[in-house]
Amino acid sequence: MQTQNPVGLFFFRHHNIYGALDQRLFYTEDSRRDVEQSVRAHLLDPDAPLIEVKARDGVDINTLLEEVRTPLTTPWAEHQFFMHNYDRWVLHMPTLSVKHPGLVSYYQSEEKRGRNIRTPIKPGRYLKKFFGELLDEETIQSLAIEWETWATPPELNVTQDADEIETVYRDGPHSCMAYSASHFEGCCHPARVYAGPDLAIAYIGPKNDAAGRVVVWPEKKIYSTIYGDIHRTKAALHAAGYKEIENNEEFDGARIRSIYDSRLGCYVVPYLDTHDYAEDAGQYLVLDDSGGIHCRWTNGTNVEDPEPSSDCDECGDNTPDSNLSYVRDHGEFCPHCVETYTFLCDETFNRHHTDERNEGPQEQEYGPDANTFYCDATDTFYLASTRHPHRRTYSSVAMSNGETWVDFHFDAHGYHDAVTGENHPYTSEEERLAA
Ligand SMILES: [Zn+2]
Repeated sequence: MQTQNPVGLFFFRHHNIYGALDQRLFYTEDSRRDVEQSVRAHLLDPDAPLIEVKARDGVDINTLLEEVRTPLTTPWAEHQFFMHNYDRWVLHMPTLSVKHPGLVSYYQSEEKRGRNIRTPIKPGRYLKKFFGELLDEETIQSLAIEWETWATPPELNVTQDADEIETVYRDGPHSCMAYSASHFEGCCHPARVYAGPDLAIAYIGPKNDAAGRVVVWPEKKIYSTIYGDIHRTKAALHAAGYKEIENNEEFDGARIRSIYDSRLGCYVVPYLDTHDYAEDAGQYLVLDDSGGIHCRWTNGTNVEDPEPSSDCDECGDNTPDSNLSYVRDHGEFCPHCVETYTFLCDETFNRHHTDERNEGPQEQEYGPDANTFYCDATDTFYLASTRHPHRRTYSSVAMSNGETWVDFHFDAHGYHDAVTGENHPYTSEEERLAA
């Protein structure tokens, strides 16, 4: 079967209602002719250059695209002379020379690009040679200085300070971990786990505006995925003696901080670049793909959907917050304790502890927040007022012996002495009938 991997791409300028856009279209061995015809048909300016970049043997689509993009990460990419003449630089693919800091590294010819042979050249010489008729001497000089400043390895900061790490993540290069602590579900920022003892964060630029950052293992002098300004961070790392890992297993066994969120019942962990899992090794977590702590969520914990839980204020059992119910003046109760130790007030519909239950007529139950009074004669609580229309209320009668009676009981079993103004119970049935 014919391979359908892209074997090259076309660079061209495409016009639409927004203006001119630089486009790249990949082609495979089979589709090359069709892609080229389609591109030519869409070129509004027939004089616009159509650049073809053939992939080297063994180079996949991502590597090819990365190579073509690399010159756009240099300081020259922002200038008009560069932007409007991609037909000149796209075949050279000029970029930072790792071996000769400060120099431009480029492909001298298509043939050399095919063999992956780059040549170093001073930035000023490169500009004079390939853009000489577009740029004057003074401009070339200032562009060369711009390149050299950019190409000088910046200072590498390596920190195991949790606050500094959090700042670098929050205010630095974009990634799924580049947010403030409140964005995550755990009790603190997940990047704080990198505060030693084995791993650390390396970054370039000021800590509150880092241009690039990466997880490093200082003792082994190795680093993993770089975020932000890849080229300059890499230059700083290599100048400091660090090497890029060839496979993620080189970070096996690295110890990070163990932060357990007891409210969520899970670990605070970041999205790890090198591992899917960590293992709880007591004082620390250890990077280990056979471990049980998942480290590929972006919510700052090791579970997909962490649910906060709290202790039941009655029995102390840890319970998901969504299952807790508020009991007035007693706190949050678990379902079992709600069932066993609480009731709903028939007047206010608030939930109360059964210790505070006041029994009313017709098996009504009232909490202390209902406006009731206690009748000593019937041993029952009655509503003095109600928030519900049509619900019956009662009046209390203060008796001469200090008791409180409900109105209907007083009407049947007591009398008002008009002379003393006091309320008395009848002492006998005869007395009541005589009255
Ligand atoms: Zn409970």
